Formats: sequence, structure tokens, C-alpha cells
Amino acid sequence: MRPRQDIPRIIHKRADRWPASPRCPIRARVIRTRFAPSPNGALHLGHAYAAIVAHDLARAASGEFLLRIEDIDPGRSRAGLAEAMLDDLGWLGLGWDGAVVRQSQRCDLYAAAAETLKAMGLLYPCRCSRAEVAAAAKAHGPDGPVYPGTCRNRAIPPERAAWRLDMAGARARAGPLFWDDAIAGRQQATPEIFGDVVLLRRDAPASYHLAVTVDDAAQAITLVTRGADLFAASHVHRLLQALLDLPVPRWHHHRLLVEPDGRKLAKRRGSPALADLRRCGVDGRALAADLRAGRFPAGISSGTA
Ligand SMILES: [Zn+2]
Repeated sequence: MRPRQDIPRIIHKRADRWPASPRCPIRARVIRTRFAPSPNGALHLGHAYAAIVAHDLARAASGEFLLRIEDIDPGRSRAGLAEAMLDDLGWLGLGWDGAVVRQSQRCDLYAAAAETLKAMGLLYPCRCSRAEVAAAAKAHGPDGPVYPGTCRNRAIPPERAAWRLDMAGARARAGPLFWDDAIAGRQQATPEIFGDVVLLRRDAPASYHLAVTVDDAAQAITLVTRGADLFAASHVHRLLQALLDLPVPRWHHHRLLVEPDGRKLAKRRGSPALADLRRCGVDGRALAADLRAGRFPAGISSGTA
């Protein structure tokens, strides 16, 4: 594994050869990143690191850093956490540009994108439970058991169904696709490793894949930054961009902060919440400086993936 550089420099040098976007010529040379947390748990050091990467990549290129709250998971989103997140970012010294966008106010956009895909004949309803998918799966993908297409050619009532993407049909329609990661370089998109992904969930207005793709385009994000654990998801997002005729950003998948056992930080495993550090008098800007310099608290390191 070659060493990785998450905190700026690389992008800065490349900023002046950004491909011009025919849709948005004024923005073509402006780097625009975003931090997009979900308010289903307090932010911890791993989130702080992710926010700093996105913020610094934008600022190093005189670009823009946007904030989006991904709050469409009704079972998990908790009131008040989004506001605490804004306080956390301010405490770290990270200022953002423009208004904070909340996914819960954008469900019409996701529905419209899904309608476009339905009109292409690329979505189908599925009412399989998680257990049924696991039992029927013959392969394992980045998100777990790969759905084997059980409902693809069945007449499933659309009420209370999830809607899945006909991956083979979508791939055939889009043709070969490529995308560019600032660290890993040019990638050939292989979204088929996920199988027929869910784009409209039964219990939420959209899946992560659909909402993120639609939002990043709507917010004119030119550089999508996120943890390396979501690298494979970009294959699906590249496909959705092609199908929905959306502009194609670049990506920067950064390292994750990990515990001694290699697992990424999680609040449930005892990683302290930024809000707790804030309340007990830790200097947030000094903490951010430490994270930038790779000085992590005892037991925490940045992973290699
Ligand atoms: Zn099914």
C-alpha cells in the first residue's frame, strides 16, 4: 500500500487543469467539497478528520466547503444532533459556505430522479426481507450479500416495496464508465459488484446511493471527499450520474482513523464524542491542528486502506 496524502497539496496543483463542465462553466475551476454527516450519532474524531480533509482541500484551492445534513433515515436520525454537529465544526475552527442543506427537505429531488430511472425501465419493486436476501444470495459484495435478482421479473405490488436498480440493464445502457480518485487514480466503474442495489428504500425516501448522487450534483460538488470505506460506492454513483445525465465530480477517498484492532472509530465502541471533548474544555482548534499533523490520541491511528 503506497503512502497516502489526505490533507491538501495534491488537489491544489491540479486545480488549474480541471475539465471544463459544459453545464456550469463559471464553476468549472472552483473546487467545491462538502461534509455530509448523518445525525444518528454524535460526531467523533473520525468525523472531525473527515471534515478537516474536505474543508482543507477546498480552502487550499480557494474553493468552497459546503455542509449537508443527511437526515432521511427516520429510524435513526435524532433531534438536536444536527445542531450539535454545527457547534462541533465551529469548535474545530471549520467554517462552511452558504446555507446548511438538509436531505429531509429535498425528498422531491430523489423522487424525481427515481421517476426518471423508472421511465427508463431500470427500477423494479422488491419486497424481499434482509433475511430472504441473505438466504438467496450467491455472492458477497461491498455491502454484504448480493441480491440475486429474485423479484426482477416478477409482478410485485409496488406498495411498501423497495425499488432496485436493474444493474445489468443499467450497465448496458450506460456503457463502460470511468472515474477519477485523487489518491487511487483512474478507476473503471464496476458497480455490478453490488448487484441490483436498492435506490428507494421501504422505510426512507431514498437510499444513500441515490440521495448522495443527486445532492452532490445539485450542490455542484466538484470533489467528493469521504472515507476509504465508501470507495466502492463510487462505482454505483458514477453509474447513476451517467443514467441521470449529471456532471461527474472527482473523488478523494481518505484514510479512516482506526482503533488498535484496525476497526474504524465508532461512538458505540467508546470513541469520545466531539461534544464531550468540547464540554470538558478541550481546545478544538488545537485538536484540529493535531489531526492535520497526524498526531492522534493514544491508541488511534490512520488506517492504510
Ligand atoms: Zn426481491
